[in-house]
Amino acid sequence: MRIGFIGLGNMGGPMAANLLKAGHTVTGFDVIRTALDNFSGARAASVAGAVKDAELIVTMLPAGKHVDEVYRGAGGVLASAAKGALLIDSSTIDVATARAVAAEAQKRGFDMLDAPVSGGVAGAAAATLTFMVGGGDAAFARALPVLQAMGKTAVHAGASGAGQAAKICNNLILGISMIAVSEAFNLADKLGLAQQKLFDISSKSSGQCWSMTSYCPVPGPVPTSPANRDYQPGFTAAMMLKDLTLAMEAAASAGAATPLGRRAADLYQRLSETGLAARDFSVMYRFIADAPESFA
Ligand code: NAD
Repeated sequence: MRIGFIGLGNMGGPMAANLLKAGHTVTGFDVIRTALDNFSGARAASVAGAVKDAELIVTMLPAGKHVDEVYRGAGGVLASAAKGALLIDSSTIDVATARAVAAEAQKRGFDMLDAPVSGGVAGAAAATLTFMVGGGDAAFARALPVLQAMGKTAVHAGASGAGQAAKICNNLILGISMIAVSEAFNLADKLGLAQQKLFDISSKSSGQCWSMTSYCPVPGPVPTSPANRDYQPGFTAAMMLKDLTLAMEAAASAGAATPLGRRAADLYQRLSETGLAARDFSVMYRFIADAPESFA
């Protein structure tokens, strides 16, 4: 398939490389020169250049404003894509922008899917991402083989915007559960309970969750977790704050109560202000353990 790929950053770069590996013809574009230079497929000089001959277009951009600009801006995807091209935005963005851009795409005769991912940079490199997809049935069926070249799971979550809704709901759970696990390990330590013992017990008890068993925020119990390498990411605290902020905006506009989500967003904000934004989000453990007075 001829694919246009826009946004060749930490995630988009390896995702586009996997499309090449699967035998597709991929033309990429990024506003950052080094991102473009690192891409081994065809390189375009503009959004229009990357999409004009493409049968399918993937975007992997930082936030809603970039997606809006790349699709609806002058010389953007909607103005430049060939008739019948399928549009897939895999960025994590707000539900409202995802729905608005998809609605405009539809008006201009394009099918569009929101397809944010879980799995991080490692999952992008290994083609093991999970895609959460919003949009029509036919568009999902058409996209599936391409999504499978970049990931191992793709779930059709519902209509336009449902993929973004799934992503922020999942990360709301994750952001809160990481704080809960961090508090528990810190309390165990203060009570003289070995952290390894808490892990041995809770990982087999009702406190068990992904933040504990796959991504434990203290060094030791899970050797692959970022806590064992000084909280190098992984998934940065800045990214978690971004996703929780999106969740809080969505909750406000939908009238959903998220009392713990609000508190969690506030804690990741404070953590980020202490210079830890670029560390893995599980650095929450250290933030809580190191400054008990700030939580008095
Ligand atoms: P990144 O900043 O590394 O990459 C984004 C790329 O988009 C950059 O190279 C940037 O130059 C490019 N870009 C911005 N505006 C552009 C434009 N107008 N035209 C062309 N290119 C443009 O970010 P990332 O880590 O690759 O994340 C991308 C998206 O994936 C984000 O929405 C993020 O929330 C989401 N995500 C990231 C991770 C992760 O672990 N990094 C995990 C899941 C989801």
